[in-house]
Amino acid sequence: MADETIFSKIIRKEIPADIIYQDELVTAFNDINPQAPTHILIVPNILIPTVNDTNKEHEQALGRMITVAAKLAKQQDIAEDGYRLIINCNKHGGQEVYHIHMHLLGGKPLGPMLTR
Ligand code: AMP
Repeated sequence: MADETIFSKIIRKEIPADIIYQDELVTAFNDINPQAPTHILIVPNILIPTVNDTNKEHEQALGRMITVAAKLAKQQDIAEDGYRLIINCNKHGGQEVYHIHMHLLGGKPLGPMLTR
């Protein structure tokens, strides 16, 4: 069993966070260090450390992460202009928190996907 991260405590509301959505499968909250006007993290309620650890049983929660991203983008009024969804994996991907999460970024032109 992988070690819990701070995200499990946020999901269980044991520590404060700006939670903007929660259901039986996923939780979404504002990133503490926003990189864009909208920067929301969408996480499964169960601990899956990285994309490498996903399996068929996780498909419902992983799919919900996308549909919740679309719902929140509409709520934040960034759907039409567009936005970016990012999931970092491990060291080369720049993953810092080992509880899989999707970044929803938008509210301004985000530029090229990778700095060159
Ligand atoms: P990643 O590099 O993909 O693992 O992203 C981790 C993200 O989690 C970063 O954007 C952090 O700013 C964010 N983060 C870390 N701790 C917290 C926290 N307590 N509440 C909200 N966001 C956090």
